[in-house]
Amino acid sequence: MRYWLFLIAKLMGAVAVFASIWYGMEIVLPEPATIRDFKPRKFGQDLTWTVAIFAYFLAAVGTFYVILLDQRYRCRSCLRRLRMPVNSGAWDKMLRIGTPQVEYICPFGHGTLNVKLVQFHGGEKPGWREHDDMWRELESLSSGSPK
Ligand SMILES: [Zn+2]
Repeated sequence: MRYWLFLIAKLMGAVAVFASIWYGMEIVLPEPATIRDFKPRKFGQDLTWTVAIFAYFLAAVGTFYVILLDQRYRCRSCLRRLRMPVNSGAWDKMLRIGTPQVEYICPFGHGTLNVKLVQFHGGEKPGWREHDDMWRELESLSSGSPK
């Protein structure tokens, strides 16, 4: 729940920023010249306004892309960035060893995210596996192993 609320908060923040930029552009940029009662639309008629709209569109789409990409690599429990990428699989021995993939973990052991680098079936969602406390599991493995 907290994970989705954080995403919604980031999106709302971006919408607020770009809405204020839009209103700023409405105020700062001059109106195009009018001929009697005919008032041409700004977009497509005025070069400054059209370039500003294109720049605005690119900035908005890029920001939303970065927000979604950032959200993808965050822990679902504590919202921290996932770290310590571990590669597995092999490109040249895909059928024997497995498909190439990268596994990220939460530094506090809440879970792991498995991102497949080869996607045979189109866009596959990354696999999030939740752990109770991964570090405690690892400590119990190392303490129980023979030396
Ligand atoms: Zn976490």
